[in-house]
Amino acid sequence: ANAAEAKKTYTIGTDTTFAPFEFQDVNGDFVGIDIDLIQAIAEDQGFKVKIQSLGFNAAVQALQSGNVDGVIAGMSITDERKQTFDFSDPYFEAGPIMGVAANNDTIKSYEDLRGKRVAVKVGTEGATFAESIKDQYGFTLATFDDSSQMVDEVKAGGSVACFEDYPVLAYGIQQGNGLKIVTDKEKGGSYGFAVNKGQNQELLQMFNEGLANLKSSGEYDKIVANYLGEGDA
Ligand code: GLN
Repeated sequence: ANAAEAKKTYTIGTDTTFAPFEFQDVNGDFVGIDIDLIQAIAEDQGFKVKIQSLGFNAAVQALQSGNVDGVIAGMSITDERKQTFDFSDPYFEAGPIMGVAANNDTIKSYEDLRGKRVAVKVGTEGATFAESIKDQYGFTLATFDDSSQMVDEVKAGGSVACFEDYPVLAYGIQQGNGLKIVTDKEKGGSYGFAVNKGQNQELLQMFNEGLANLKSSGEYDKIVANYLGEGDA
């Protein structure tokens, strides 16, 4: 695009406390893989973004009602969501996994959840997975709006476990959030950038082109390594 041309600004909805994808750093600045990625893509493709940190479910609803142009929020590409949204090419592998308090020695498998309370985040793939096994294993669900509330609930013992995306839980544990992993990760969709079905196709196209450019230039790996270290990039 011509430098003299006014750049178009897109409003992008995201989650609140979902490190390393979106979170506030020690200075209170909003950072993370998703944030750096959309900003680098905007730079590469010549558009501007206005980030709105709404919470996961709120961001998805804001997209559906047209209050934001797109969502980048560690949002899993699922068949059900594809009926409502168009997704970019996948940019990160994920899937839900169970987390328990680091000092809990009684929960070692889903069988141990019988009669207990399990924390989930509203509208997420982890919540859908927990819902799908709760009758089989005989546990109840407590629903939260954001991931930090969910972690606090498990640490405080209100729930014996939570279901969270694997890369987010693993990062949190590494940062000392007081949880641990005792089971294998479940299958889940990769993360994609979403727009409303049939809308903002130009933005979706630019996301895909920008993502491909960042991958071939090595910038994508740099962004990921900046949060996860070289080994995981
Ligand atoms: N990847 C999960 C989903 O799409 C969770 C996303 C999130 O909590 N930000 O449902």
